[in-house]
Amino acid sequence: MKKITIAIDGFSSTGKSTLAKQLAKHLGYIYVDTGAMYRAVTYYAMQNNFINHNGFDKEALIKDLSKITLTFQFNINLGYGEMYLNGMNVENEIRTIEVSSFVSKVAEISQVRAKLVEQQQEMGKNKGIVMDGRDIGTVVFPDAELKIFMTASAQTRAERRYNEMLSKGDNVSFEEVLKNVQERDYIDTHREDSPLVMADDAIEIDNSHLSREEQFQVVLDLFNNI
Ligand code: C5P
Repeated sequence: MKKITIAIDGFSSTGKSTLAKQLAKHLGYIYVDTGAMYRAVTYYAMQNNFINHNGFDKEALIKDLSKITLTFQFNINLGYGEMYLNGMNVENEIRTIEVSSFVSKVAEISQVRAKLVEQQQEMGKNKGIVMDGRDIGTVVFPDAELKIFMTASAQTRAERRYNEMLSKGDNVSFEEVLKNVQERDYIDTHREDSPLVMADDAIEIDNSHLSREEQFQVVLDLFNNI
């Protein structure tokens, strides 16, 4: 079986993790959701009151980075690893609109990125991995054999995220979700350290009008042709 590195980058709510999970399951690869790692650090910052709607004490978070341990623990029922922060399962806590509203500010900090990128490179050193995020094909694994860059209109992405949150019982408005998607797009593409850009050798997939199955088939064909 071919063992390569698959990097999936793109804007928020483009369905990167859905595709990455499908691929990893099909290929028997490890799946790593790097967004969950940035979200877990953000949750830690919120818990310790380093970040709230009044401000962000970046230095306090940077000082505390050595106290943050992130692990993925495989959940056999789900078929992928869930995010643990200092031994606690935080899968639900990290998916709230509050975490989404702060995460891009945390992800701008170079010290945070350096810590997480190092861990991500370690997890992928034996290949056979599908990793999704914003800088996987550009920074984490610039030599990845298959790089996908996913896009869709902000409206389409916000609709998907909104429906997902409603089905989980979250009390959010569509406008709030759309605003969050647009704000994160802006910060993610404009930050100084590792901004979201498409790698020169990535293949762009606009999935605004593709079903999950169609999109999966497109990427599987790319994989088979390597
Ligand atoms: O993928 P997800 O939407 O969960 O990512 C949350 C946020 O984490 C992104 O908006 C981005 O600010 C940050 N992120 C990042 N680099 C990654 C993955 C996520 O900066 N590799």
